[in-house]
Amino acid sequence: MPIQTFRTVQEMRAQVAAWKADGLKVGLVPTMGSLHAGHLALVKAALKKTDCVITTIFINPTQFGTGEDLDSYPRTEIEDSAKVASVGGQAMFIPTASEMYPTGFSTRVTVDGLTEVLCGAARAGHFDGVAQVVTKLLNQAHADVAFFGEKDWQQLAVIKRLARDLDIATEICGVPIVRDDYGLALSSRNRYLNEEEIAIARKLNVVLKKTAYDIAAGGFASEVCAGAVNALLEAGFQKIDYVECRHSETLELVECVNDTPCRIFGAAHIGRARLIDNSLVS
Ligand code: AMP
Repeated sequence: MPIQTFRTVQEMRAQVAAWKADGLKVGLVPTMGSLHAGHLALVKAALKKTDCVITTIFINPTQFGTGEDLDSYPRTEIEDSAKVASVGGQAMFIPTASEMYPTGFSTRVTVDGLTEVLCGAARAGHFDGVAQVVTKLLNQAHADVAFFGEKDWQQLAVIKRLARDLDIATEICGVPIVRDDYGLALSSRNRYLNEEEIAIARKLNVVLKKTAYDIAAGGFASEVCAGAVNALLEAGFQKIDYVECRHSETLELVECVNDTPCRIFGAAHIGRARLIDNSLVS
C-alpha cells in the first residue's frame, strides 16, 4: 500500500482511531526531516514494536535560537517519504506551521533542571521548544509508543520526564545511535561539512569513547574531560561547548563513577555544524 500523508491533526487522529479499533498498535517517530539511516533505524525499531508507524516531519521553529540554521535547515519531503516507505512505514504526518501553532497560541512547556545543563546551557530556549512540540505531537497522535534517538540523549531524558510528569499515556522508547564506518553519529547537519571537516568530525566519537574508558578506569571525571576538550581542539574543532560526565537519567555531574549509571556528553563546532554525541561509561 502506498504511504499515506496526513497534513492535519484531524486526518491523523481519524486513521489512528481506525487502526486502534482494528486492534493494531501505533508507533510514532518524530523528526525534522532530511532523513538518514539514523532516522530509519527509529522507523524500523517502531515497526518491530508496533503495527502501524507514523513518521512526522516538522521543522519546529520554536526550538531554533536566533542565528541558528532554521532557514537553511534541509527540506527534502519527497525523498523522506520514499525512504520511510522503503523500510515499511505506513504514514507521514507533515503539518504546516499554522496547523501546529494557530494564531493566539500561547502555551509553553518547560522541564526544569534537566534542560539547564549541556545543550540547554548553550542553546537558550531550545528545550522549551522541543518540549512544546513533542508534547503536542504526543497529544495529537495518541500513539502507543513513540521513538527517539539516543544520539540526542538529553532530549530523550527531557521527553521521558515530561511524559511522566504530564501523565502522557504514550510509552517513550530510546533507540541506539547509528554511526558511519568511522563512528561519526549520523546527523542531518553532517551535510554542512566538507571532506576535511568530516575527517575532524569523526574524531568526536573517538575522543568521547576514550574519555569514557579513562573515567571507568578510575580517572577523575573533571580532569579527564578537560583533557578531552584539549584533544578536540587539537583535532581541529573550532569551539567546544562541553565535554562532561553526567548521570544518565538525572544528568547531574558525576566526578567518580563507581556504580553510577553515567555517560560522557560532548558538543563541538566544526565548519557550519555543531555536533553532539555521547558515550556510555561502563
Ligand atoms: P531530528 O530530525 O534531528 O530532530 O531527529 C529526529 C529523531 O531522530 C530524534 O529522536 C533523534 O535523536 C533521532 N536521530 C537522529 N540521528 C540519529 C542517529 N544517528 N542515530 C539514532 N537516532 C538518531
